Amino acid sequence: MSFTLHGIGVSGGIAIGRAHLVSHATLEVNHYVIPPHQIADESLRFDGAIRAVRAEFDGLQNEIPAGAPAEFAAFVNLHRMILDDSTLSVEPRRIIETEQCNAEWAVKVQTDALLAQFDAIEDSYLRERRNDVIQVVERILKALSGQPGYVPPPAIGAEQDLILIARDLSPADVVQFKRHQFASFITDVGGTTSHTAVVARSLDIPSIVALHRARELVRENEVVIVDGTHGVLIVDPDERVLAEYQQRRLAFGAARRKLSGLRDTRAVTRDGVAVALHANIELPDDVAQTLANGATGIGLFRSEFLFLNRRDLPDEDEQFEAYRKAAEAMNGLPVTIRTYDLGADKQTEDGAQHSVNPALGLRAIRLCLTEPQRFMSQLRALLRASHYGNISILIPMLASVSEIDQTLQMIARAKAGLDDEGIAYNRAVKIGGMIEVPAAALSLEVFLRKLDFISIGTNDLIQYTLAIDRADDAVSYLYDPLHPAILGLLSSIIKRADKAGVPVTMCGEMAGDVTLTRLLLGLGLRAFSMHAAHVPDVKQQVLEADASALRPLARSMLRTSDPLRLKVLLAKLNAA
Ligand code: PEP
Ligand code: MG
Repeated sequence: MSFTLHGIGVSGGIAIGRAHLVSHATLEVNHYVIPPHQIADESLRFDGAIRAVRAEFDGLQNEIPAGAPAEFAAFVNLHRMILDDSTLSVEPRRIIETEQCNAEWAVKVQTDALLAQFDAIEDSYLRERRNDVIQVVERILKALSGQPGYVPPPAIGAEQDLILIARDLSPADVVQFKRHQFASFITDVGGTTSHTAVVARSLDIPSIVALHRARELVRENEVVIVDGTHGVLIVDPDERVLAEYQQRRLAFGAARRKLSGLRDTRAVTRDGVAVALHANIELPDDVAQTLANGATGIGLFRSEFLFLNRRDLPDEDEQFEAYRKAAEAMNGLPVTIRTYDLGADKQTEDGAQHSVNPALGLRAIRLCLTEPQRFMSQLRALLRASHYGNISILIPMLASVSEIDQTLQMIARAKAGLDDEGIAYNRAVKIGGMIEVPAAALSLEVFLRKLDFISIGTNDLIQYTLAIDRADDAVSYLYDPLHPAILGLLSSIIKRADKAGVPVTMCGEMAGDVTLTRLLLGLGLRAFSMHAAHVPDVKQQVLEADASALRPLARSMLRTSDPLRLKVLLAKLNAA
């Protein structure tokens, strides 16, 4: 019987194939009593399972395929850290001994306690790490049952036709997909910020998360259609639906091939306006994808990812190497590196602090200025790397003039220190600020006077202007880039920066949304930075646009506050 399920599409495109249900060890285990003379053996059995899982992680770490997204190594590290924590690797031994129970039960007791703690966490990013714990526990239970951690699918037809369906897939499992050619994978759990979603995007195959009951409702070998763009799963489609999606898949493939031909084409509108299309990256290895998609620079290197998923923090030298690597790989093209935007949903292992409203708390530059030593080592690393490429420094979440002044003073001190030590750096390195707090947008002139460039972070600008938590599903329906307040702010920022002769770019998700490219061009934006995979689509829009014709249409959108009329006007603008 045909039916449809809806989830969150995390990687676009259409896949048609046969369902393969990926099984994981279940967390439901039996309890049985171990006689006193067998307790020592049971403890040894537990230790053996922990050793086996460690060996699996070693194997994964050593065999990360070339070209695997940089996050993979970090994910394997995270899972290894969860395993090494005494809660899972030591405490169950004590339970086996004191409660005289089987190893599986001891692991389950510890897991339940751990998961209860996660359930109490309000922060959605940290809550999602609950799934990482489950994935590690599943590996331990599998090892206790004598099975390996990941079982490749049996040969039921060609791999290219397989759609993997799992309750959840760990990033460590997904890393192995690089060696396979599955058509798609879908999972029952996961949010847009889950690790699985992050790696899914890097794999660039259609995928959906948060389908809730797919693993239970779909049968092995059933024909399924995955529409990763719209987050739709169609199970057992009839002939007509199948034929339609086969057509759509062909059209999607053809459009992709055509777009990849644009890699070396300059992004210039029909009326000759040049537009900069840059990429957002998380780690230096992402540069390869940046260049492959034809981005002509890095508009946002989110440096805080160097600090995540690890116990120690990267020191000055390690950071210097990372920044230099990115700059050298870009070979003279601009590389804008943002100083670490930690806090809120991005906490280091040592920094997990629980403020009531983390997005309004010690985040980004606010945090940097409270820990001058750590901030100074990043500034020194950035300046040293600036000698090896075209690096600019970007400061996140500035809201007040004192923050700009303190930051500029710190940079001056970092420069003076390097001078004293005779270390080379680019003396003319440009310092920019993110405009992502409404206060900064409203008092822009002082930012324009003190900074060399600005970059509009629409993700946060929308969050803070409309007062909606960008990570909270319950209010996501209010997250509206077309809200008149947002359009008004964007237009005003771009106009005032142009007037002051200060370069302005946009690096929030709006910049990579093809339905908004023409509107932003019409508002006067000439520099966009986005996930590398979006560059070809946005370039296509730029090539087809007539910038001067878009201006009056964009202006008419600024004059209306009726949401329906705004949608109509946007459609008109996109058809112009
Ligand atoms: C933004 O806020 O738009 C932005 C680009 O920064 P981040 O998404 O990393 O907060
Ligand atoms: Mg931001």
